[in-house]
Amino acid sequence: EFGEDEGGEEDLVVRPPVVTVMGHVDHGKTKLLDALRSANVVDKEAGGITQHIGAYQVTTDVDDNERRITFIDTPGHEAFTAMRARGAQATDIAILVVAANDGVMPQTVEALNHAKAAGVPIVVAVNKIDLPEADPTKVRGQMAEYGLVPEEYGGDTMFVDVSAKSELNLDRLLEAVVLTADASLDLRANPTQDAQGLVVEAHLDRGRGPVATVLVQRGTLRVGDSIVAGPAYGRVRAMLDEHGDNIEEADPSRPAMVLGLNAAPGAGQNFIVVEDDRMARQIAEKREARERAAMQAKRRVRRSLEDFMASMEKGESQELNLILKGDVSGSVEALEDALSKIDVGDEVGIRVIDRGVGAITETNVDLAAASDAIIIGFNVRPQGKATEMADREGVEIRYYSVIYQAIEEIEAALKGMLKPEYEEVSLGRAEIRAIFRSSKIGNIAGCMVTEGLIRRNAKVRLVRDGAVVADNLDLASLKREKDDASEVREGFECGLVLRNYQDIKEGDFVEAFEMREIPRS
Ligand code: GDP
Repeated sequence: EFGEDEGGEEDLVVRPPVVTVMGHVDHGKTKLLDALRSANVVDKEAGGITQHIGAYQVTTDVDDNERRITFIDTPGHEAFTAMRARGAQATDIAILVVAANDGVMPQTVEALNHAKAAGVPIVVAVNKIDLPEADPTKVRGQMAEYGLVPEEYGGDTMFVDVSAKSELNLDRLLEAVVLTADASLDLRANPTQDAQGLVVEAHLDRGRGPVATVLVQRGTLRVGDSIVAGPAYGRVRAMLDEHGDNIEEADPSRPAMVLGLNAAPGAGQNFIVVEDDRMARQIAEKREARERAAMQAKRRVRRSLEDFMASMEKGESQELNLILKGDVSGSVEALEDALSKIDVGDEVGIRVIDRGVGAITETNVDLAAASDAIIIGFNVRPQGKATEMADREGVEIRYYSVIYQAIEEIEAALKGMLKPEYEEVSLGRAEIRAIFRSSKIGNIAGCMVTEGLIRRNAKVRLVRDGAVVADNLDLASLKREKDDASEVREGFECGLVLRNYQDIKEGDFVEAFEMREIPRS
């Protein structure tokens, strides 16, 4: 009921990219989102007061073509990753804001890792270039170290120097977004089918009741449509755009504020158009039940080394995703370095999707949940509700204070994947014909080897009246006549003592077997 476009290739039409603005605190994300929004309003002479509805669309000229871009109006990677943890991917492109006077900071790197983990291309906005101490070249150098090499240096990431404050180069930033989308993404959707999309935000309004801002992802949403949004449902009574104007319909990538739902759904939940109100209600009720069940099931899902190994066995995952947190940057680097040297063959790989200094945060847990990663804490502890959240989301956090211990455990887990399987190979059996009790060495079984052979270092089991009474035993001794023997063959007598097992009877059989490695195919 949700996901793919209906129809064939010929039904697909280009849709605008959806952009999230990320970056370190105070680097100007909010200011940039405001500047882009207001610059656009002036263009359109709408002149009205813009409304915060959680997302907005702007229009820009690229090579004499009018191109639209949708912005998610909640800055930061936290919301982005929280949505992703819920299974929703709203964002096509990330704008990474770096203040040119401050350079790359911890949350710059964090945001970058979150965008990378989601596979979202990045455009870098080097902000605050109006400041005299701005050093955009330095920012480029720093970003290159993190794998974002500027186009002008032969890389494939577009950097644009901007000032959100002076509204400088905003058009060039928009152009970079469009060019990046054209170069690396195939953004098309079928506008003719019933609409589907995501809830960006929702709240209960005093006058208007539940209002939800939705982002249409495919199809066209119209006033009068019956929709289900998360566990909420209703008929679209009215739709407003970001200027507060009434709109009749919304096409793919278009955000719209929807009135008429019976409740406010959660951000990141999806919506679909259905046949009529009755159907909407039925589906909503089913969804609610399913959601409740899913919530309970989720508690049982664990993203852990064990899970990873199980999925590897099923041939599903080839990479173990890790998030590293450490007390100082030196320890994080050392850990990552040591991890990169683990080599257990081509079948299994480790991918560090995020690393950082400091306590394990809820954002770390969110990313782990969204990327099926486990978190390695080196001399650090979780902060705030991170533990609670990890439990809820089924994310495993492993704590270490010694690097080699962390490496050993992860390596062992990966090798465990490749651990050979064993099969039991039967060697032979001997019948106990007499028992000699010795206080010094225990009960000695006087045996006749009736089949195959008994080997000194084989595993043995004791069989009485056809039933196994003791399994997986070792021999404490094996003698032929008076001499120690390494093996005794069929047709010969021997004396043997079972290690740590004295309850033997005449007529019992001692069966010898070996565990032999099965070659991996
Ligand atoms: P956020 O935390 O990333 O959302 O940052 P804000 O948008 O709140 O901006 C942080 C501070 O930087 C505010 O005082 C802004 O006025 C200021 N700021 C943002 N962009 C610019 C800019 O281009 N130039 C200058 N000089 N200041 C800016």
